[in-house]
Amino acid sequence: MTKRTILICLSLAACTSTPSELCDDRLIDLTHPFDENTIYWPTAKRFELVHAAWGPNDQGLWYASNDLSASEHGGTHLDAPIHFARGGRDTASIPIGELVGPARVVDVREACERDRDYRVTPADIRAHEASFGPIPEGAIVLIHTGWGRFWPDAKLYLGSDVPGDASDLHFPGLSSGAADLLVERGVDVVGIDTASLDHGQSTHFLAHRVLGAANVAGLENVANVGRLPASGATLIALPMKIAGGTGGPCRVVALLP
Ligand SMILES: [Zn+2]
Repeated sequence: MTKRTILICLSLAACTSTPSELCDDRLIDLTHPFDENTIYWPTAKRFELVHAAWGPNDQGLWYASNDLSASEHGGTHLDAPIHFARGGRDTASIPIGELVGPARVVDVREACERDRDYRVTPADIRAHEASFGPIPEGAIVLIHTGWGRFWPDAKLYLGSDVPGDASDLHFPGLSSGAADLLVERGVDVVGIDTASLDHGQSTHFLAHRVLGAANVAGLENVANVGRLPASGATLIALPMKIAGGTGGPCRVVALLP
């Protein structure tokens, strides 16, 4: 089924259903909230929200407004291809059609349970396909490591919570071979429920580089992945449209079949 067909089906389903009840049941929020507990890379600027105004103004009218700042790369966020690939697309240049697509969830929880430095292999991707069918072109593939259960405990989630030190991180990610295979399949986006597409001990960031070079966007710190079926959901991942951005905070939502 093409992406266009899927979108037409979605809109038809919306038309024939009554109110928002059905939608609420079918929608899953895959986004962690942004607040002082949000996990960032140890060397990155954390999320900061400051009241610029909060309360009655001179005329006695309620007026509230915050100033926010943060690294593009923390919490549930998008990695634009340019993050690790010179000349790759920036956040605002990714066609929105690539940020909506059929979701596949590759379950690697068992392997990650045995080894917190686990790298997803091409065999893991093929095992998923053997059970659920070939990963279609334009898919959004999410890697389910089970790490979401540690959020927002940085020590458990990253393996270390020493600010400024990224040398002792331990969490699963993708091997370059798995990234190669996903590029071969023509996927549009690859996401994961850990802090990085590459495992915590990576120093060469091969998965990022393979995916970025193919203009495949990434999603990191994706929440609630365990609530999705392996196949059949539609994913919508819309980052803040930062011109020249290397990524950005992203609201990720799934529509269940
Ligand atoms: Zn990132």
